[in-house]
Amino acid sequence: MIKDINYYRLKFSPRSKFNKEGLNVSRSAGVAPNKPILLLSVIELIERSHITDNRIYLSPELIATFFKFWHELEIERKPDIGMPFFHLKRDGFWHFKSNLGHEYIESSQSKVRVRTVSGLRQAVEYAYLDPELFFLLKNPTSRNELILVLIDSWFSDKTQQLERSLSMDAFANISDELLTEGGRVYQREEIDTSDTQTAIVRDGAFRRIVTSVYGHRCAFCGLQILNNQENIVDGAHIKPFSKFYDDRINNGLSLCKNHHWAFDRFWFTINDDYTILVSDNLHEDSPHATPMKTFHGQRLLLPNNSSHHPRLDAIAWHRQTFLEKIA
Ligand SMILES: [Zn+2]
Repeated sequence: MIKDINYYRLKFSPRSKFNKEGLNVSRSAGVAPNKPILLLSVIELIERSHITDNRIYLSPELIATFFKFWHELEIERKPDIGMPFFHLKRDGFWHFKSNLGHEYIESSQSKVRVRTVSGLRQAVEYAYLDPELFFLLKNPTSRNELILVLIDSWFSDKTQQLERSLSMDAFANISDELLTEGGRVYQREEIDTSDTQTAIVRDGAFRRIVTSVYGHRCAFCGLQILNNQENIVDGAHIKPFSKFYDDRINNGLSLCKNHHWAFDRFWFTINDDYTILVSDNLHEDSPHATPMKTFHGQRLLLPNNSSHHPRLDAIAWHRQTFLEKIA
């Protein structure tokens, strides 16, 4: 069969005895709209140029977009992106690139089911579409046609909600809110530690904002590497989120991978005047990069807006733990 727009029109419509190519969804508790919602989410991210090559990661942006549609459509069950992300593989146009050691996930014969978001992120590097389909989705005209097929086939009674929803950038809204409010401290009971999806979105928004206020540079060494929409720095929590639930921007630091790792292990800390204090215990051999000890006594690179500077009580906590470790 030629994989043209008509082929994917059939693929995106419900499976029936008249359309054996159609999308196969569970109907045990009413029609489960997980797959069409995931497809709409992927298409939206292609339209927003968030997905630019044919690689679909289980990213904070994808999860936030999936949640947005889910809530907008007022579906009573809890959203779970893991199910459609895994099961779409059976529909023939959605494939997996596995992480090393998880090659079984690529095979269409595999009986192994990985449906949790954390399991999928471990096993799957990214999902990708048939190249023919990706090409059609990059083109605005065929993309709109396929969006309409999804809406007409699955959500014909909710077209207005969906149109409103499509114009809303969910992840940007979450991030902007964080930036406007300066972030927040959660109560322990607000945090469901088993809810990986929400944690990925929350962490993703924190990272996006913290790294952007630091100009995507490491506050310790100044490193900045940009590659399209990716960059090399993390949004590190000064007081760990797992203990303090503190997602305020001034509990954050933009750090490259090495210095994030070192900071979390208290290999260096920060004084109240934002100078760097490096542990004497490090034995470094660093022929091609500046050794950490060189930064001892230097001032951190800080955001322009002083309300985003690391909070003194947060760095005092970190320094106290550092001093206990080296004692
Ligand atoms: Zn660094």
